[in-house]
Amino acid sequence: MANIDLLDEPRAIDTHAHQPTAEFLHDAGGEMMRDAAGKFGTELETWGYEEMREEYHQAGIRHAVLLGWDAETNTGNPPVENDYVAEVRDDYPDFFTGFASVDPLKDDCVAEAERAIEELDLSGFKFQQIAQGFDPSAPEHDELWAMIEDLGVPVVFHGGNSTLGAGAPGGRGLRVRHGNPLLVDDVAARFPDMQILLAHPAFPWEKEQLAICQQKGNVYMDLSGWLPKYIDEQVLQYAGSLLRDKVMFGTDYPMIRPEAWLESFAEHTDFSEETQRKLLWENAEDFLGL
Ligand SMILES: [Zn+2]
Repeated sequence: MANIDLLDEPRAIDTHAHQPTAEFLHDAGGEMMRDAAGKFGTELETWGYEEMREEYHQAGIRHAVLLGWDAETNTGNPPVENDYVAEVRDDYPDFFTGFASVDPLKDDCVAEAERAIEELDLSGFKFQQIAQGFDPSAPEHDELWAMIEDLGVPVVFHGGNSTLGAGAPGGRGLRVRHGNPLLVDDVAARFPDMQILLAHPAFPWEKEQLAICQQKGNVYMDLSGWLPKYIDEQVLQYAGSLLRDKVMFGTDYPMIRPEAWLESFAEHTDFSEETQRKLLWENAEDFLGL
């Protein structure tokens, strides 16, 4: 079945976009990003936000969550600063919602989390536990989770394996274990007012992820990072039934491009029009408060 018509008027919302610029792909990404690109045979070409917005609108997408990135302590690479994310959001306020990143291994992470929301007016947080090298269930991070719960904004946690560092000896020291969604389940249980989006089908823990999304009222998931044709059949089945109010569309731009994702979605899934609306924008509108 074909996608519902997105092209008359762009309506979809991408819950997971990175910068197509050197700030993310070259500086913050560093060698681990070059490993990932090598694995998929892509060049780390960069372009600007005007081109990005044009590409999104042509694909039928009206809005995107632009994510910060700070894995400096664990990787040694410079962050995509929260101030920068806020500037880009200010240049395109209708197109971008900006999510902050704080490095949980930095001493000032709690203060930076507060500043990102109160001063920069960012709308949520993104954590990439594998790149950032931390276990979110460890009690030493509770102060950060308590602050974020108090701030009342949503949080995206990475889910599953990562291609960063793929093929390098020791995977450049990154630990796949930190991407296990069961570590986030602990956080969700202890901070029930925190609204959590588990990004990506969490390979190889998709079943755990589905169980958590089903059991925890405050945990959601998105379909970013994988073309629909490669997504586990059971994930798609849940997205059309038990979890159809909780699953959202995302790309993982610029690694996955919107047109390619939506084409694969049209070819390989068979959701009703109502479910497509939920997955492509309605669930994200509710989750993000748009
Ligand atoms: Zn991502």
